Amino acid sequence: MVHETKRVVVITGGSRGIGRCMGLRFSEPDTEIYFNHYDPDDDAANETIGLLADAGCNASGYRVNVASPSDVDAFFKKIVDEAGRIDILVNNAGITMDAVLVRMKEAAWDRVIDINLKGAFLCMQAAAKVMMKQRSGCIINIASVVGAMGNAGQANYVASKAGLIGLTKTAAKELASRGIRVNAIAPGFIDTEMTAGIPEKVKTAMVEQIPFKKMGQPEDVAGAAAFLASEEASYVTGQVIHVNGGMYM
Ligand code: NAP
Repeated sequence: MVHETKRVVVITGGSRGIGRCMGLRFSEPDTEIYFNHYDPDDDAANETIGLLADAGCNASGYRVNVASPSDVDAFFKKIVDEAGRIDILVNNAGITMDAVLVRMKEAAWDRVIDINLKGAFLCMQAAAKVMMKQRSGCIINIASVVGAMGNAGQANYVASKAGLIGLTKTAAKELASRGIRVNAIAPGFIDTEMTAGIPEKVKTAMVEQIPFKKMGQPEDVAGAAAFLASEEASYVTGQVIHVNGGMYM
């Protein structure tokens, strides 16, 4: 069924954490949300579908590896066949595999770059083709504060997020004439499963570096995404919005 009047939102890594929260923030009765995740355990994805349905929108979640061109192709084909358009793409899927530079395995480098950076490239390419025909669209890439400031022990992750910022600016320049805006959000230290495993002592030391002296919540990032996706941001493109409690200025 083609829903020309609906707003179609695609969120990668939407099963939990910041991605789930952004889905809930975008949930409105006239909104159709497609999200993906990759873990074979789909409990979190099913719970998210339930939460999004309770919030009043039509939601579907699929197991898609954003680093796989064939997975991404099939995912976007399904969306276009069903919904007929894409209004908002949020490239949120991301992982960490930390090690100091001299000990980092090539496999850890490749995996993080593949998911965090190539995944966003593949999804942007697929969505941009649809958005170019519509002559409208909004792409939001979830980068990280460390992509701007660097971080010891995260060479692969930092390179992926710095790359994502460059990709954002380039796509913004290429796609502006087609009415497509491309921006990034660089979250600071946000309370999700990604940061849950950090030892308490390290967490306390990190929070100490933040002027607000607390971690951010997924809702803080979702608020920035809602702004970027809104009409209020219609003259905003190629920007990086930092949501970090003052951790980096
Ligand atoms: P999270 O709770 O670990 O969630 C990550 C999401 O990405 C999950 O839905 C996960 O689903 C999905 N995912 C992982 N690999 C995937 C793949 N290959 N294909 C598709 N989906 C995949 O992380 P988060 O904290 O919400 O982070 C979301 C984004 O914000 C990431 O890009 C992260 O780098 C960025 N960020 C987070 C923080 C922070 O402090 N939390 C700070 C700055 C930036 P499955 O597990 O089912 O695959």
